[in-house]
Amino acid sequence: MRDDTGGTAPLPPLPARAPAPGAHTTADRGPEATRAGVRQSETGQAAGREPRAPGPGQSRPGERRPEERLGGGLAQVLAGEPADLFDRMCAVSLPMVARFRGITVREALLLRGPAGWAEFSPFAEYAVPEASTWLAAAIEAATSPFPPPRRPAVAVNATLPAVPAERVAEVLARYDGAQCVKIKIADTGAAGGADDAGGAGLEEDLARIAAVRAAAPGMRVRLDANGRYGPAQARTALARFARLPGFAEACDYIEQPVMDVRELADLRAWAQAERLGLRIAADESIRKAEDPLTVARLGAADHIIVKAQPLGGVHRALSIVEQAGLPATVSSALETSVGLAAGAALAASLPPVAAGLGTSALFERDVAQPPLRAVGGELPVGRVEPDAKLLAELDAGPVRTAWWVRRLEACWEHLRGRVERGEFADRSGPGTSCDVQAGC
Ligand SMILES: [Mg+2]
Repeated sequence: MRDDTGGTAPLPPLPARAPAPGAHTTADRGPEATRAGVRQSETGQAAGREPRAPGPGQSRPGERRPEERLGGGLAQVLAGEPADLFDRMCAVSLPMVARFRGITVREALLLRGPAGWAEFSPFAEYAVPEASTWLAAAIEAATSPFPPPRRPAVAVNATLPAVPAERVAEVLARYDGAQCVKIKIADTGAAGGADDAGGAGLEEDLARIAAVRAAAPGMRVRLDANGRYGPAQARTALARFARLPGFAEACDYIEQPVMDVRELADLRAWAQAERLGLRIAADESIRKAEDPLTVARLGAADHIIVKAQPLGGVHRALSIVEQAGLPATVSSALETSVGLAAGAALAASLPPVAAGLGTSALFERDVAQPPLRAVGGELPVGRVEPDAKLLAELDAGPVRTAWWVRRLEACWEHLRGRVERGEFADRSGPGTSCDVQAGC
């Protein structure tokens, strides 16, 4: 199998699916059927299907209208099959300008539902239970409008992978007008990364930070360690960062220096006792935890990072922010422009904080024309339609497409089980209780 994951993430096996007798699934039709769906973008016609999906308010003869397909919420949607909801499924493969979180190619499955295009793109190494939460976000985006935005555009930060210091200016130049930059640190496999003692990796990180401050002296800074430090490494690193002249004043926060939420709380308490002047943000402790509110209960962070897709959709993410009672930054999960639109909708529903949604700049090419990229430091809010020609050109190929469709179906079945068992709320919105205990 072609390695599309950047060479670091082995593809997990998917569980065997046992369709109900007589059930008709996308997988039953095999990759060629899905390929037909992809090819529809090139030819405008696919075997056995109408050339085009009906427009808003239209329906094909004998087909339920969109509002009828939306009725009943998540449980009713999941009672059917993916092909009942999505009339297009396109797996795409986007080359990146630099290795980021261990990958050099980003894959996604783009899905068209009655409310518009949606994205399903859990990272390849994520198992079905975690990935099924991402599917809930795709179903939400495909079946319902985004919340009304508070503003037409959202400010975004630049995102700097753990590139060598000499590449900093080149990468920053891709972000037009950004006033804030998130710098990846402690990242193995890029600029040397964190070693066991945090030594050589930390020096590389300090050099990257210095390069940023030299290239853009007025920029605000955020650091993101993705939980890669041990507790002792984190204290060493934070003490070094705090000693950089003017750094504490310019730094919004340090994101997830350690992975364990209790260690995060200890580190924050230590940093406060040492008067380092550095704030702690939680990311993985929100989106990968069984209970994302543990962060708030333990006082483990000053700030939280929320992502629409890993949290099960825009409405669930809003509910978590509301319940946590902490300032929040909306960030991407390295989605294509289609998925970034959901993040922009989430950010536009919250108080203005520069969002980590400028990540389309990390792609050599994206699926929309123009891609959803910040202009003057701001990202417009609204639905994104992929470009048919780009969908064809960025097609992930039949093997990867079949893998994604199979994964979609496994997650569909798993999410259906969670909903049936009451482990995943059928629907939650701002101000309503969210099944955070079940990890929504
Ligand atoms: Mg992060």
